[in-house]
Amino acid sequence: MPHEFRPMQVERAVAEIRGRIRAREYASGMHLVLRALAESLDMSIIPVRDALAELEQEGLVEGEAGRGWRVAAYNPESLRSLAELREALECQVARLCAARATEEELEELGLMARQADRADQSKDIATIAELEMRFHLRLAAIARSDKLRRAIERAHVLQLAFDPIEHDPIRDETHVRLVRAISRRDADAAEREMRKHCAGTAEALGVEPEKKKRCVKSGAGTK
Ligand SMILES: [Zn+2]
Repeated sequence: MPHEFRPMQVERAVAEIRGRIRAREYASGMHLVLRALAESLDMSIIPVRDALAELEQEGLVEGEAGRGWRVAAYNPESLRSLAELREALECQVARLCAARATEEELEELGLMARQADRADQSKDIATIAELEMRFHLRLAAIARSDKLRRAIERAHVLQLAFDPIEHDPIRDETHVRLVRAISRRDADAAEREMRKHCAGTAEALGVEPEKKKRCVKSGAGTK
């Protein structure tokens, strides 16, 4: 990589390390050796250190006092609060999409939704994660809110990185139902479908819906 400017190196290192964490190549809690990391990225340690500082801001890695960095460690509480954040962001995106998506975009979303739902039936976690992320970032882009899109991207990456368990084939046409509601321009229904979807994802990631249980003690199951 001849004379790549440092900001570009940092950007590349951030993207690469983020990708490795997402792909579970670097597991939750794993210690990151700066020098080895720099070598694997074919760059000096300075831009890699800057990249780690940036990833620390995103919550993907954590500084260890005097020992460098490690991949952020899984913690049920942080996972729950992340799921709650994602639900809030995604529900707003679903509402905005119902108002703002063009006809072409609805068609595109329909296609992506079918792909994502088909992947959900498989055990191929990498593909599930990839299609899931692509679908939800596309939704956020169609909502025409750059800040929401970025926040959702961060939440997704964190949620995937913290995922402690194997997925079961989970949901049943959840993306298709969501897109149907968006296509009807029904913001309330879109929000409802998204909320269900987020709850399903959180459950698949091992987040106990603890607070809901507490609120509706004698309520019927929602299965
Ligand atoms: Zn999804």
